[in-house]
Amino acid sequence: MTEIRRRRAAVIGGGITGISAALFLQRDGHDVTVFERDEIGTGTSMGNSGVISIAGCIPTSVPGIVGRVPKMLMDPYGPLSIRWGYLPNLLPWLVSFARNSREDRVRANARAKSALLELSHAAYDTLIEQADAESMISRRGVLKVFRSNASFAGAKFEMDVMRECGRKFTVLGADDIRQMEPALQPIFEHGIFYDDNSALRHPGRLVQRFARTFVEGGGKIVKETVTGFQGDTAIRTQAGDHETDIIVIAAGSWSADLVRQLGSRIMLDTERGYHIMLPHPDTTLNRPVALAEHSVFLSPMEHGLRMTTGVELGGNEAPPDFTRARRMVGHISDAVKGFRTAEQSNWLGFRPSTPSGVPYLGALPRHPNVYLAAGGGHVGMTMGPVSGRIVADLVAGRDPGVDLTPYRIG
Ligand SMILES: Cc1cc2nc3c(=O)[nH]c(=O)nc-3n(C[C@H](O)[C@H](O)[C@H](O)COP(=O)(O)OP(=O)(O)OC[C@H]3O[C@@H](n4cnc5c(N)ncnc54)[C@H](O)[C@@H]3O)c2cc1C
Repeated sequence: MTEIRRRRAAVIGGGITGISAALFLQRDGHDVTVFERDEIGTGTSMGNSGVISIAGCIPTSVPGIVGRVPKMLMDPYGPLSIRWGYLPNLLPWLVSFARNSREDRVRANARAKSALLELSHAAYDTLIEQADAESMISRRGVLKVFRSNASFAGAKFEMDVMRECGRKFTVLGADDIRQMEPALQPIFEHGIFYDDNSALRHPGRLVQRFARTFVEGGGKIVKETVTGFQGDTAIRTQAGDHETDIIVIAAGSWSADLVRQLGSRIMLDTERGYHIMLPHPDTTLNRPVALAEHSVFLSPMEHGLRMTTGVELGGNEAPPDFTRARRMVGHISDAVKGFRTAEQSNWLGFRPSTPSGVPYLGALPRHPNVYLAAGGGHVGMTMGPVSGRIVADLVAGRDPGVDLTPYRIG
């Protein structure tokens, strides 16, 4: 094996992607500093549904979605809302989103996501072992349940594409669902069980555990906001310039602004999403359960039951509006026995999303020492560690074991 030259690396962003990149770079012997403006692991990587979604290759943009948008928007319990004032900023992203809903594009995008998902568990397991964090993950699969035959029939395309991509799942009937999740009311006729998916008991705490391991290994975390760059060899924060040899931009849905400063444009915006923490019901769920008709996830976590909702398009700046998420709590209360609706806490997060659902991963054009790892969207918590591993491979000149063409920048 060729020896890796020890270099200074600056990672921007202390979410799952940045901390994973930091750990993998550190494993190669580099001198790594993470720049994070907030507390580590308190951003989008904290409040998500906690699913390591190895099966999650289906992009949001699927055939027919554009035609369904008006109905989704008008439905007070629908999975989509828009902050209309933000619409002009979003138009190029939306046009690309619509183009990506062509069937051949969806299949190609699903294959590209799938190639990373396939490698995701191995990358997670490397970090989980290093951080001694096995107790923070539950490996019991994930369930999606359908009340009606019609909505299950609507999942046929999704299942066909998952099969083509080699994603593993099992179709269940009403009795299987009852046995697997006795806490669910007996109103679900069909289910899809994602055998390979796992669940995090507290995603934010896991990121913090990884960060602690990084610091124990000699890594530095600097609580500063990156505002720009000095060529490829220094990043600028409000406190001054920090020299470095390698830069990794892993700033979630804020990455586009940083990339723009280096002369590249990327199609990255945010699909905002909310969670509401509820007390565990009398009998808690054994695993995360997606309620297909409502685009809602119910994830049993160490500190309660987390309900996460669909998508709000509105950029990074607009303040939260919990109306829809709260309305949903009452709406789904008949799904689980002994469901408790008392809100414990709430949260808004910013999925870093490309219109295709395929993330960016690789060096920036004309900046061979600046790497971008962003755009994991709905499965960014899943893809964080593998993205970090691949960045370290590229820095080391190692074969990442996957064709990176679909993720390239520019
Ligand atoms: C409701 C909801 C449910 C979800 N459920 C799942 C799920 O079950 N499974 C899954 O795989 N994914 C899920 N996701 C998606 C997932 O949470 C995100 O894709 C993922 O957390 C993104 O991680 P990241 O590290 O790339 O970005 P982030 O976690 O957003 O981290 C980026 C960090 O960069 C910092 N930063 C930004 N700009 C700067 C700057 N200029 N200087 C310094 N620091 C900066 C931010 O403060 C932030 O901490 C969900 C998302 C939402 C909203």
